[in-house]
Amino acid sequence: RIAYVNGRYLLHGDAAVHVEDRGFQFADGVYEVVTIVDGKPADADGHLTRLSRSLKELSIPWPVKPATLRFIMGEMVRRNRARHALLYIQITRGAAPRDFKFPKNPAPTLVLTCRRTAFQPASTLENGVAVITMPDIRWLRRDIKSTSLLPQVLGKQKAAEAGAFEGWMVDDNGFVTEGCSSNAWIVTGDGILVTRQPSNEILNGITRLSILDCARDLGIRFEERAFSVAEAYTAREAFISSASTFALPVTRIDGKTIGDGRPGPLCLRLRQAYMDHIGSTDPV
Ligand code: PMP
Repeated sequence: RIAYVNGRYLLHGDAAVHVEDRGFQFADGVYEVVTIVDGKPADADGHLTRLSRSLKELSIPWPVKPATLRFIMGEMVRRNRARHALLYIQITRGAAPRDFKFPKNPAPTLVLTCRRTAFQPASTLENGVAVITMPDIRWLRRDIKSTSLLPQVLGKQKAAEAGAFEGWMVDDNGFVTEGCSSNAWIVTGDGILVTRQPSNEILNGITRLSILDCARDLGIRFEERAFSVAEAYTAREAFISSASTFALPVTRIDGKTIGDGRPGPLCLRLRQAYMDHIGSTDPV
């Protein structure tokens, strides 16, 4: 396995960053996860666009030109002989003597790793996954894909301990914001697809945006609005979306069965449409 650190391709085990990297000290950095399916990066344009936005919001300069990053991504796929893999891209404000303020001459750190992935087993797609709900205890710039992920670390751990695949975080008004590492969707009794509107309160998922495009193309009615936990319990279907899971059916929320307890037809249609959109067949 090969990793990339600031201009060098290294054996994964030899790759390292400075002990005073601000990513390490302050989580002062941003990231993207791009899924490689059949050797091709899925939705690369969308992920690079969002990376650019995250950097701008935090005034972190690009460590290399976007076109160079695209080249490095291709090199990582090639050097790792990646067919089905997750490409992780992280940019931090760089190494500097520990001080909260930005360093005078920032030299951002760029790291890429590539991990071959087993996608969810087919049984996951056949049965759907369970989620549990939990209070959303994060900061108010969730639109920035920052490496500051402690609430999600705690949330995912809690979900795992409850035997659930994902945690759905809930705002003070009882409305679902999003999953710990995914966007949250339901289909109402009237067959309307619902997912929360983009704002500072959620990460605008690249997979989310592509699935909305698919819904538009298929003529599926959708609404971008918040939905409550109570509405989710009585939904016809529920699912999550992310770069690594695509559209993945949710069949239980807090132990309650959703719909007929089987993966929903609309979710599976959108999953197929998403695969067509990225020009691949479903690896699961
Ligand atoms: N929300 C959160 C909090 C996430 O961490 C992720 C995945 N990184 C998503 C949504 C889904 O985004 P994407 O479709 O771009 O992977």
